[in-house]
Amino acid sequence: MDSEDKAMFNEKALNELRGGFSGNLVLPADAGYDEARKVFNAMIDKRPMVIARCASTRDVVAAVDFGRDHGLEVSVRGGGHSVAGLSIGEGILIDLSGLKRIAVDTDARIARAGGGMLWGELDRATQAYGLHTPGGRVTTTGVGGFTTGGGYGWTSSKYGLACDNLLSAEVVTANGRVVSASASENTDLFWGIRGGGGNFGVVTRFDFRLHPLGPTVLAGLAMWPMERAPDVLRAWRDLADAAPDELSTASVVLIAPPEPFVPDALKGQPVLGIAAIYVGDPQAGLPLVKPIKALGPAVDLIQPMPYTDFQAMLDPTAPPGKRSYWRGEYMAKVSDEAIEAFLNLAPAAATAGFPLTQTIVFRIGQGVSAVPDDASAFSHRDARYLFHPIMVWDSATDDTRLIAIGRELAETMRQFVTGGAYLNFTPESDRVRDAYGVAKYERLMALKSKYDPQNLFRGNQNIRPSDAPR
Ligand SMILES: Cc1cc2nc3c(=O)[nH]c(=O)nc-3n(C[C@H](O)[C@H](O)[C@H](O)COP(=O)(O)OP(=O)(O)OC[C@H]3O[C@@H](n4cnc5c(N)ncnc54)[C@H](O)[C@@H]3O)c2cc1C
Repeated sequence: MDSEDKAMFNEKALNELRGGFSGNLVLPADAGYDEARKVFNAMIDKRPMVIARCASTRDVVAAVDFGRDHGLEVSVRGGGHSVAGLSIGEGILIDLSGLKRIAVDTDARIARAGGGMLWGELDRATQAYGLHTPGGRVTTTGVGGFTTGGGYGWTSSKYGLACDNLLSAEVVTANGRVVSASASENTDLFWGIRGGGGNFGVVTRFDFRLHPLGPTVLAGLAMWPMERAPDVLRAWRDLADAAPDELSTASVVLIAPPEPFVPDALKGQPVLGIAAIYVGDPQAGLPLVKPIKALGPAVDLIQPMPYTDFQAMLDPTAPPGKRSYWRGEYMAKVSDEAIEAFLNLAPAAATAGFPLTQTIVFRIGQGVSAVPDDASAFSHRDARYLFHPIMVWDSATDDTRLIAIGRELAETMRQFVTGGAYLNFTPESDRVRDAYGVAKYERLMALKSKYDPQNLFRGNQNIRPSDAPR
């Protein structure tokens, strides 16, 4: 087949796909193509042959069938937030951004959300009823990649991961079948899509358990100058270790923004921040945030605020379209030595990646650790902290320098980490086995062999079918 025949073949096949497709197809020659292939991390520059913007589950089935039958690399994009660029390849891009339907059943406390929803959209819809489920801490993060990879939200300390709140899902598998997965149907698949990423199919609908919260919560950020950082961090660690799961906190070294509430001397300088949310009635939370306030922050924004505002608090620090290198490493504890190492590097990293780079340590909580390890594919529930260097910059000329700083931070902290990686924040593809451990990885491989023996869905932290060559 010469290239002209191949092009004609493609055109004919594309016309077949187009017929009956309720969304639309975007091709390289189309005006909107460059916009349609953008993902969060501007370092990712892939050119899919076809972008299938799906508007229904049927569209997803048609796109999966098309990709499989024509031997194309298949990629699946929810919110496009994979910093590793896992949601875009060079074959067919199955874009779920048209799957936005959401229904909130207030009696049953369930949200049924389309596979292309973003967390800001889901939070808005559920908060209209004073309900929520733990979700992404930046509003533009996709529900799809977040939930299938685990999903830590601010309220996970009490209510678990996003995947722990998944009650059932509609999944399009590699053979183009639409199946349900839940505690009573296709239970093996249900186990795998909660932490196993997009390895087993395309999730076109997520049904989440909802919990009452808000719309007003006690939450916000407090900041200290760096010279206070060692004692404030130690006090935070002691507080976080002793706190009930209703108090969810994180510490962060960031560059203080040029906002009116920041003292002039701190604007543009590295500062230590403590972010906190009380997961419950704001009045009941006041005594618990008092010890943070007693540490005398230079900026104290911890106050009653809409939950949706707190969920958007980090948005300005993570705008799409920047260059990014992010890592997620688990820590069993935050020792004094870990604090010292962290403070030796994090302010310099923030300055080097001015103004958006930051380094965060999240406290995890029993909402996550109380769920048995074998309940789902998700692993490392025993870790108590999650450490994230988040390098963000504009120019390609800074790529090598800033990635090296991010790696150095992660490697230096490695002596304090458990060795496990959170795959949703892992740019490398060689840590998948480590992330699950031997026994779980073998179970995942067997599941992959059952649901995707040809490894059609490999644009992810890939689990190989059992019989695939290593
Ligand atoms: C700004 C920002 C903030 C973040 N905040 C948090 C946070 O607070 N907590 C946290 O735990 N993580 C967080 N993350 C990491 C986040 O969990 C992952 O990046 C996640 O993959 C994002 O999901 P997505 O749908 O946007 O990703 P995409 O890039 O669209 O997809 C990522 C992977 O998931 C697959 N996928 C996507 N949707 C589906 C679907 N419906 N069915 C099957 N597979 C699918 C893709 O094929 C790909 O392999 C954040 C990331 C960013 C960039």
